[in-house]
Amino acid sequence: MRLVSDMTQRIVVLGGGFAGVTTAQELARELRKQKRLARSPRDDRRFGPAWLRFGRREDRSDGAAANHGVEASRRVAVTLINRENYFVFQPLLADIISGAIETTHVVVPLRRMLRDVEVEVGYVEEIDTDRRRVQVQRRQSSERFWVDYDALVIALGSITDFRGVPGMAEYAIGVRTLGDAFYLRNRALSMLEDAATEPDPERRRALLTFVVVGGGSTGVEVAAELEDLVRTAARTFPSGIEPRVVLVHSRPYVLPEFGKRLGVYATRRLREAGVEMILGRRLTRVDVDRVTLDDRTTIPTATVVGTVGNAPHPVAARLAGATDERGWIRPDPTFAVPGLERVWALGDCASIVDPRTGGPMPATAQHAIREGPHAARNILAALDGQPQTPFDYAQVGMLVSLGRFRGVGEVFGVRVSGFLAWFLWRSYYLLRLPSLERRLRVALDWTLELFLAHDVVEINLRRTRTRPGEDPGELPGEPVAAGSRPDARDEIVISS
Ligand SMILES: Cc1cc2nc3c(=O)[nH]c(=O)nc-3n(C[C@H](O)[C@H](O)[C@H](O)COP(=O)(O)OP(=O)(O)OC[C@H]3O[C@@H](n4cnc5c(N)ncnc54)[C@H](O)[C@@H]3O)c2cc1C
Repeated sequence: MRLVSDMTQRIVVLGGGFAGVTTAQELARELRKQKRLARSPRDDRRFGPAWLRFGRREDRSDGAAANHGVEASRRVAVTLINRENYFVFQPLLADIISGAIETTHVVVPLRRMLRDVEVEVGYVEEIDTDRRRVQVQRRQSSERFWVDYDALVIALGSITDFRGVPGMAEYAIGVRTLGDAFYLRNRALSMLEDAATEPDPERRRALLTFVVVGGGSTGVEVAAELEDLVRTAARTFPSGIEPRVVLVHSRPYVLPEFGKRLGVYATRRLREAGVEMILGRRLTRVDVDRVTLDDRTTIPTATVVGTVGNAPHPVAARLAGATDERGWIRPDPTFAVPGLERVWALGDCASIVDPRTGGPMPATAQHAIREGPHAARNILAALDGQPQTPFDYAQVGMLVSLGRFRGVGEVFGVRVSGFLAWFLWRSYYLLRLPSLERRLRVALDWTLELFLAHDVVEINLRRTRTRPGEDPGELPGEPVAAGSRPDARDEIVISS
């Protein structure tokens, strides 16, 4: 593919997760090395009427004045658009629930990670591949604007989809964003507060029961950390309360991807830690005060956590002709999207065929951070009329924490469990955190938790009422979880 342009070209990356950030970093690194990286101009965002925008596109090379002496057509600007101004290190999200890690320590400001890349914060709403532009909505003001691109990288991740089980979308809590993890922690603590003074024993039991759905790695880690939190918090109630964390999984043991021996080990460890395991059962319904299983038994509960149910990102799914029948975008092995000119897709939002298995590449951070740099090199090759190369990566292993001092995993084909797996899990993710500062903070959090009890404060995010003419007090209603908004089309709205 040869791209010809008489002005600075702009590569736009959608999504500031593992795939998007590593793509933007590699693009900036390579372009800096070639002295072609243009400071991204801000003045071609299309606010206002057309006559006001006249001539703006031509202005784009002016914004790149830093690159004196470099032919304008060779300059490339990189823009990354994300709905938050931070990157979330999802593998450590579960640790926020127990308080093992401070909430902000698993996120890193994008602008600190992306030197010389313009970061736009807003919701990507639409991709117009005919006119090569992307529509973005500001989070607070809701104002919309268009961003033009010469090359586009779609790395928006996937979304939580609870529609498979009636009632789940209405009542279950997902664990995907920082806001989700923070909300779940707060909610669990507030349920304990309510339960402590609840006179009705049945209602009290529901308030104290937390059902986690799914025995994959996220479900297991969430159940272990939630158990840790509610157990630690319960000890601070002199009246004595007995919280229950129940994990429901459709198979006879959790973590089936690790094989029977480790799966059975993980199941036993969770039981010993206090998690109640309901195995070989599926959820058929979620109501405001209970869940129903496929054998018609019901569990009274006020908190259901869903860790199953993945769906294609709606913005990507709307790309006509580029997706499979389920809506997953299907790039070729170079990450280029067939049928769409100058568009690449990677990470969780794409279904990439693994040449080793013929199936889709696993949706993991481990893959995304390898895909990003590879895609970046392919995009630059395409811009320069050079051939692109196919991606191939064999997973080196997988580790899962089972809570305090226990884990399971497989590294280079060797299966590990117990303290060693837990230690490897912590060491690996500590080293993988994107900045030294965050590594130090998390290392300190983990060191302190060896000696100190986890924090059990529920943070009240309700705002102080300040409107004139109203009684002073708190605004009613649940706080909106960070990273979500009630009318977001790509998120499940949590109601309780
Ligand atoms: C709780 C949890 C634990 C996990 N643990 C592990 C693990 O231990 N090991 C492992 O390898 N993998 C793990 N994963 C999977 C891993 O995190 C994902 O595979 C990885 O994050 C995929 O990267 P991505 O960049 O494709 O998507 P994401 O990291 O999801 O990034 C997508 C980005 O796009 C942004 N975005 C989405 N929609 C919009 C929009 N409309 N407008 C603007 N921005 C938008 C999001 O804010 C986000 O920043 C875990 C996932 C979760 C949820």
